[in-house]
Amino acid sequence: MSVTFSIEGNATGAFEAECYDSAMVLKADDYDSILLAITRHKMVCEDCEYGGMYSRAILDVPADLDVNMSNVNAAMVGARLGFDMSDLSGSATGEDFLGRVLLAIAADLDDSGIRATEVTPGARGARMIDCGVAAGYFGERFGQLHALASEAVRLGREVHWA
Ligand SMILES: [Zn+2]
Repeated sequence: MSVTFSIEGNATGAFEAECYDSAMVLKADDYDSILLAITRHKMVCEDCEYGGMYSRAILDVPADLDVNMSNVNAAMVGARLGFDMSDLSGSATGEDFLGRVLLAIAADLDDSGIRATEVTPGARGARMIDCGVAAGYFGERFGQLHALASEAVRLGREVHWA
């Protein structure tokens, strides 16, 4: 389970689909065209014929600045940014998010790492391990979120996480 912080995106109307077996990506300007391209591809690719090939909408913002982390780590990072992370999803304006990241960086909170611990929620609960975080973890994540939020501000978009 993980949470991804990303820039709010709008659909461009175009679609893409990735081959199950290779790095090849089909692209099309509309949904009918991607369905046709997928059907054609499945005629020549056994992996996609049996494994399935699914289209996704191409958004008008880059995904390469997305920041993904485990639920536990996202809750800690979000809390340090002052967000209510109880349901691990939310949104903020780019300006608000960037301001919180800058404050978190300036606050220079303890970033010496958190040791792994075993968490056992009750006698019949599953045995769970909280993997902890390495020293410098928050600094690295705030750096990535700073890049994401700066781009969101430049584009006039929100930052979303879920
Ligand atoms: Zn394929």
